[in-house]
This record gives sequence, structure tokens and C-alpha cells, in this order.
Amino acid sequence: MQTAETPKIPVGISSCLLGERVRFDGGHKRNTYIMHTLGQFFEFEAYCPEMSIGLGTPRQPIRLVSEADGTHCVGTRDTKLDVTEALTASAEDQKSWHSQLFGYILKKDSPSCGMERVKLYHGEHCERTGVGLYAARLMENFPNLPVEEEGRLGDPVLRENFIQRVLIYKRWHDELEVPTDAGWEQLHRFHAVHKLTLYSHNQAQARVLGRALADAPASEEFATFKQHYLSELMPLLKIRATRGNHVNVLQHIQGYLKHQLDKDDKQELVETITHYHRGELPLIVPITLLRHHFRRHPHPYINDAHYLNPHPVELMLLNQL
Ligand code: SF4
Repeated sequence: MQTAETPKIPVGISSCLLGERVRFDGGHKRNTYIMHTLGQFFEFEAYCPEMSIGLGTPRQPIRLVSEADGTHCVGTRDTKLDVTEALTASAEDQKSWHSQLFGYILKKDSPSCGMERVKLYHGEHCERTGVGLYAARLMENFPNLPVEEEGRLGDPVLRENFIQRVLIYKRWHDELEVPTDAGWEQLHRFHAVHKLTLYSHNQAQARVLGRALADAPASEEFATFKQHYLSELMPLLKIRATRGNHVNVLQHIQGYLKHQLDKDDKQELVETITHYHRGELPLIVPITLLRHHFRRHPHPYINDAHYLNPHPVELMLLNQL
């Protein structure tokens, strides 16, 4: 199991979320949960695209407008101020340090940093279909990078989902993005230790990915398949893990104990999973009970699975699921 001493993971963040006074009105949007809780595990790399292109603070607000030649970002008072290219170039210029990140937390609603549902103006009418220009180029350059908005991190399921994606993306880089002669072997191991986690998101898609991996070595070059695997893995992890899917995974794990547990222990496990299913217990309870049983009755596949060996930050979040 990983410990609290595990090195912090580099994650990009909109500067205003860390309390930097970089907003158009000279204020900030400090998020104490991000700073104090996630900050224990993530090494934040803060960046404000609007400051980086020299807009200064305070400044006139900018907004996204739909023009005949595409989306522009212009001043709300002086529409001649067009920072479309500057904001996109700002993301492009940061590619080098972006490539060292394992996640990014963006400020919602911003015409620069917003990940989705940003106001896009058609004349005086607006709809929430825009994407901040800095964020758009960041996500285009790094389509597998876990990205989330601070507003959505208030939802326990989305929060756990984002953190899990960051942790798995980091593991991917540590284990698969290193020169080795044993690439296929490592990818098979990576898949095996994450299989139960993938099942909690979508069992059918996880099986398809597993089959593709099983069939691949005979016909595909490793480097090509590895990129294909990652491009399937990250969207799969983005699917919300439901309580029902977790129950299926817990029952699957329970099956490995059918010859090891006595009647009372089996009954206790069944009841614990049932209570979790009904929403009467958090996920940490059946997981802790299973971990206890597998310490006494080890099974190599289950004991190695990350599902039962969460990172400390995940362990904390399982109390809320
Ligand atoms: S949302 Fe982005 S551009 Fe706006 S102040 Fe925050 S970091 Fe700067």
C-alpha cells in the first residue's frame, strides 16, 4: 500500500483557486478544500493565462463571442481587444511544463480557463456551450490528461473520479513510459492490478479493453498498442463508478473467499455489502472488511489489486462514497 510519504503529484491549477489575486477585479477564488486537503497530496503548479498575456489586474472582463470565422475572446467594454490568439498561444507556449503534469484543475465559467459550459455570446444572446480558450488548447494538446473544474470537485463521486484518474495516469507514466524490454509484460500487469477498478466504472468496456490487450501481442507493435490502450483507458475511467457497479466488484472479490470463511464471516460480509448497496454504509466499510479477510487468506490477484489498496487520498474519499 502507498503511504502518506508518497511524493506529491504535480497538478496544474488556475492561479486564482490558490488565492492569488489575479482576477479581472483584483480578487481571487481561493478554494480551501483544494489548497488544504488535495494540497497534501498534489504539488500545485499555478498559472493564470490572462496575466501571462499581459492583461494585468484589475482589467476589463473578457468574454467568448461567436463570429463567422469561429469563437473569439474579446473585451466586454472594448470589443477591439481581441485576445483569441494570445490565449491559445499561451497554452501552446506552456506545453513543456504541461507535459510534466498528471492532472489539471481549472476555474469554471472562465473564458480562458473554463473546461465546459462557458457563456458563448451570439450578439446579445448567450448560451453555455463555450470552452475557455486556454483550457481548449490544453485539452487538445493532452487529451489523456485528467482535467476537472473546481466547481465539480464539490461532488464526492466526481472528486473521487478525478483523483483516481490522476493517480492512475501517474502510475501509467511511472510504469509504462520508461524504456524497457518487458513492455507487454508490464502492460499486462498494469491491466491486471487495475482490472477491478475498471469494472467499477464499466464492466463491459473493461472486458473489451482486456480482450484487446490479450489479442494484441501477436499482431501489434507495442508502442502503437500502448497509445491505443491509454486512449481507451482514460475515457473509461471518466465514467462514473456507480454503487451498483461497486457491489458487483465487491461480490466478485467475495467469491475468492468462499472456501476460506466460516458461516458467520460470510454472513457478516454479505450484510456489509448489502448495507453499502442500500446507502447505509460508505464504501470504505466493505473494502476494509475485505482487506482484513485477505490479510488472513492472501490471494495474489486480489492482494495486488489497487481496488483493495487505495492511495491515502482515495482511502479518505471512500468515506464519502
Ligand atoms: S480563471 Fe484563469 S484566467 Fe481567470 S483569473 Fe483565474 S487563472 Fe486567471
